[in-house]
Amino acid sequence: MCFDVLVVGAGPAGAVCARTLALAGHRVLLVDDVRSSNRKVGENLIGAARPLLRDLGLLPWVELSEPVTCSGTLSAWGEDVLRSNDFIRDPNGIGWCLDRPRFDSCLREAAIAVGAQWRQVRLNAVQKDSAGWRASLSDGVVSARWIIDASGRRSILARRLGVSRRQDSDLVALYTWRQSQSQETRTVVESSPHGWWYTATLPHERQVVALHVGAADASHIMRKQSEWSDLLAATQHIRGKCEPATPASLFSTDASGSSLDSWGGERWLAVGDAALAFDPLSSQGIFNALYTGLRGAQAVIGALAGRQQTLTKYSQQLMSIREAYLHQVAHFYQAEQRWRGYPFWDSRG
Ligand SMILES: Cc1cc2nc3c(=O)[nH]c(=O)nc-3n(C[C@H](O)[C@H](O)[C@H](O)COP(=O)(O)OP(=O)(O)OC[C@H]3O[C@@H](n4cnc5c(N)ncnc54)[C@H](O)[C@@H]3O)c2cc1C
Repeated sequence: MCFDVLVVGAGPAGAVCARTLALAGHRVLLVDDVRSSNRKVGENLIGAARPLLRDLGLLPWVELSEPVTCSGTLSAWGEDVLRSNDFIRDPNGIGWCLDRPRFDSCLREAAIAVGAQWRQVRLNAVQKDSAGWRASLSDGVVSARWIIDASGRRSILARRLGVSRRQDSDLVALYTWRQSQSQETRTVVESSPHGWWYTATLPHERQVVALHVGAADASHIMRKQSEWSDLLAATQHIRGKCEPATPASLFSTDASGSSLDSWGGERWLAVGDAALAFDPLSSQGIFNALYTGLRGAQAVIGALAGRQQTLTKYSQQLMSIREAYLHQVAHFYQAEQRWRGYPFWDSRG
């Protein structure tokens, strides 16, 4: 069978993209090997996503994933005291802390519910042909007129096509999940000489605790994991929000901002992290995935109808998102001046 569009990756970007294309009447195949999903980090969805989710008809699906309220942030950044930013004053209202695998699976169900076909398989290789593409999946070969790269930071399709990826300052998250009885509904952020910490209470009495450091420190700490808890014990505020014991399992993942040099080409397009990935300090990653998933789908719908200018418009939209993001993240890091002289902070302006 020849699909109109093959969407590779069923995170928030791929799911929204597949849903939007299916709603427009296109034959869509959504694939994901789901191997990494249970370890996917990134659980805080900002209230600004609410109008977009409403327009996409996704609010009931988000509720189905049973998120908990995120009522604001507490941050010790640029000064020792913990300042509160209450989302109640935000015109978009409060945000959510997500059970990430469940959230991703609910959005995927929302795409399937409107006609997208779903397969739990991996994309291995692609080849161009006269109709578009022949894609080798782990369960066989399919044809598609278009392919969307929604494979996250790995940007698997773009890489296979030889498109390079530009990384901003290196940043690695060293994170763990714990059981927690905490009633804290705000996320907590604290900077430290080596990087910055983050913790949030999640659904099902779980808590995420993450340290963000440069790549060299990250590989050192992964070799000697007791240092992670020593650094946690040395924080002023985060240590009071979680038990500073050595984690049973400490995970490591790239968290640096990055961007493809080209966000699309002949019959392909990248959305979400595959196109533009953000430093988690921005808290914008999932929102950007939802938004670019929608805009990418609209661009392909236009191109399939012969309106090639929709692709140029999509690139312009991504360009302005990237510029705004770079400006915002530089502003955040410049607001912390206490740790000048430490490599992590000096490398960030
Ligand atoms: C440490 C950290 C903390 C973060 N915290 C936040 C936060 O609090 N709030 C926030 O908004 N954002 C946060 N983010 C960012 C957020 O997690 C991402 O922006 C978001 O997941 C991007 O969604 P996506 O759909 O583009 O990609 P992903 O969610 O990464 O999905 C990509 C999918 O592609 C699949 N895939 C990959 N290769 C293949 C293949 N070959 N074949 C088939 N499938 C494939 C993967 O299995 C995956 O499911 C954080 C990121 C990091 C690293």
